[in-house]
Amino acid sequence: MDHYINGEWVNSGTGTIEVTNPATGEVIDTVPFGGKKEAKLAVSAAHDAFSGWAGKTAAERSDCLMRWFQLIQKHQEDIGEVMTKEQGKPLREAIGEVQYANSFIQWYAEEGKRVYGDIIPASASNKRIFVQKQPVGVIAAITPWNFPAAMITRKVAPALAAGCTVVVKPAEQTPLTALKLAQLADKAGIPPGVFNVVTGNASDIGEAWLEDARVRKITFTGSTEVGKLLMRGAAQTVKKISLELGGHAPFIVMEDADLETAVDQVIASKFRNAGQTCVCANRIYVASDVAEAFTEAFALKVRELKVGNGLEEGVTIGPLIDKAAVDKVNGQIADAVKKGGQVAVGGHVTGHFFEPTIITGATDEMLCMKEETFGPLAPVATFDTEEEVIERANNTPYGLAAYIFTENIGRAIRLSEKLEYGIVGVNDGMPSVAQAPFGGWKESGLGREGGRYGIEEFLEVKYVSVAFK
Ligand code: ADP
Repeated sequence: MDHYINGEWVNSGTGTIEVTNPATGEVIDTVPFGGKKEAKLAVSAAHDAFSGWAGKTAAERSDCLMRWFQLIQKHQEDIGEVMTKEQGKPLREAIGEVQYANSFIQWYAEEGKRVYGDIIPASASNKRIFVQKQPVGVIAAITPWNFPAAMITRKVAPALAAGCTVVVKPAEQTPLTALKLAQLADKAGIPPGVFNVVTGNASDIGEAWLEDARVRKITFTGSTEVGKLLMRGAAQTVKKISLELGGHAPFIVMEDADLETAVDQVIASKFRNAGQTCVCANRIYVASDVAEAFTEAFALKVRELKVGNGLEEGVTIGPLIDKAAVDKVNGQIADAVKKGGQVAVGGHVTGHFFEPTIITGATDEMLCMKEETFGPLAPVATFDTEEEVIERANNTPYGLAAYIFTENIGRAIRLSEKLEYGIVGVNDGMPSVAQAPFGGWKESGLGREGGRYGIEEFLEVKYVSVAFK
């Protein structure tokens, strides 16, 4: 497949990137290895399209988004299949991601009609103060491989609804899902230049966008390391920036928790996408009194998970994305064992297929309790008091998602207020939805995606002071 720039499929012959299936190692397609030239071409297209798109009524933009939403709905199974092939997640989960991704398009198609301003009482009777919201301009979105569709729509849908135009660089591992979305955007009648996708050399494309004053905002999901680099680069032209970076979610099970719910939710949170999400439970803290009961029930359920090629029926955990991901999880397990942890379940790996693994006797000195894992490893540690667990949970530079399981409402409120995290799930391991603000505190990022907060990221505030006779 080629770049999608200005409503056309473009290939300037700059070499290719092979897209491989992590389950089989087979090359499934190639995309162009674009660089600065293609990146700039896309910005020019987005820049030229901006005034026309921003000048449409919110209802007209909403109609375009709704047509895109309907086409994605219709093609959810084929997009899901492409996603499973390039990313590895089980087909049912991939189709689930397409639906989740599409919910942002639908929600922002509606929300774009509700971008309101203010009229503020002035200081003189012959003056009026109007506050209006206007689209930021050309947006550059750089997205990761773990959610090949949703990380794009979460950015592109609010941006387009607000009247911005967008250039996207998907991850090199998963460009096909992005290009599939572009095909449908084209078919939906989203005008040329409004939504562009460029594939290729990440640092060259990133640099071209950072240098270009026409790009007014960078929105990024990915590693904290690259996020910091983009933040520094954005200073050149003082671009707005939204960052959705790493997480290290604590999953806290109090002694009064409903253990069945806690086990079901930790499975959903920890093993979704084979543990490759930034809101996955990373550290599991269980009250000492219930640790044995919890771990027993958890181990039973983990043994029921089925690892394999995501296209096969009944598979619940697909392969990890690449060898580096496998090595990282292996390294964390070896480190945990060296520091006294026990492998209670799993621990084996074949190719990219990693067995879901539970480590008991985890301590905060272990790498898996400090570094983001991004794989199916669940370390279980114990604690004795509320104060202790809050202190341990907050003792990290990350602040994306945290989870608490308790049946005591006072405790739920107390703990959720003390956790230094942008998202807290109380008895809920799967809190992400289109209408809620997703984003992190501390080094987990800046800005929010989702809900009415998410569209503000793509709007500038203009204060108009009118004096009259
Ligand atoms: P991961 O480790 O999950 O792959 P990355 O932060 O490396 O996370 O990747 C997220 C996105 O950032 C991908 O689209 C990747 O191509 C892109 N990326 C990586 N390095 C750079 C860079 N130097 N400049 C711009 N984008 C980059």
